[in-house]
Amino acid sequence: MLKGRDRDRAIIERLEGWEKAGVRFPDAVDRRLRLLRLAIEAQPGIGTPTPHLTRDAVSALLMQGKHILSFDDIRLDRRLFQEIFRDVVGVLVAEPSGDQENSRRLNQLAANYPLLQQVAREYYSGTPLSGTATEHCVDAAVLEACVGAALNPFLKAYSEVLSALVGQELWRRKNCPICGGWADFAYLESEVGARWLMCSRCGMEWLFQRIQCPYCGTQKHQSLAYRTNSQGLYRLYTCEECHSYVKAIDLRRASSEVLLPLERIVTADLDRQAMEANYGPGHRSHS
Ligand SMILES: [Zn+2]
Ligand SMILES: [Zn+2]
Repeated sequence: MLKGRDRDRAIIERLEGWEKAGVRFPDAVDRRLRLLRLAIEAQPGIGTPTPHLTRDAVSALLMQGKHILSFDDIRLDRRLFQEIFRDVVGVLVAEPSGDQENSRRLNQLAANYPLLQQVAREYYSGTPLSGTATEHCVDAAVLEACVGAALNPFLKAYSEVLSALVGQELWRRKNCPICGGWADFAYLESEVGARWLMCSRCGMEWLFQRIQCPYCGTQKHQSLAYRTNSQGLYRLYTCEECHSYVKAIDLRRASSEVLLPLERIVTADLDRQAMEANYGPGHRSHS
């Protein structure tokens, strides 16, 4: 399975291939694909962060159940962060809805850099953004989506560097060992079918129990289930305790090169099926 920058290149190639072939996606999927491309194209500007911890220090934190990247460890380049935020607002707010007023307010907020930093800090620590959003007359959910997407390219850069220091045997927890975020996708690896989770914020992948809800943590067999599509390639894991779902791909059944960051986006039909059956995306309801 491709990883890191090789995978990024393969994703761009595939996106360009789809574009040339005139492949059309629903608008919501298209927006997420554009954000993914934006995050990949921002990588050279962000560069490769230097790890702030040694492998031993990482292991010590993981053994205490602590994720390893705190907000203050992230070096945010002011100009680049503001520029990415404006691009994100373009993709998520200005273009789809033509909502110039909201996008103007969001861009105004981002122009005030200490405020943008504060919002990013709140988002990272899971603090609700409703207070700041009300104060600046923007929708809290929209603000959260924008700041999350603007921070993502930076978190991705850190996650790629730090993932090599994470001893997978030290962490079987529900949240991400790097940034503490929740999973929004899973895969069963191609050898023995162990289940790995993918972080919704930084993209880190970590090994997790096959029979446990990645959101509420229940291990009750009778509360956990999954359904598969007709080829058995995709799975929808559901939990009756917290009514969450997580999508997964079974790599044992994949015949071509799987690019996980694309899979989590283009499987929007699984999200629709889950929500129609009254399950919610666990990474949102628990953050
Ligand atoms: Zn993460
Ligand atoms: Zn659950």
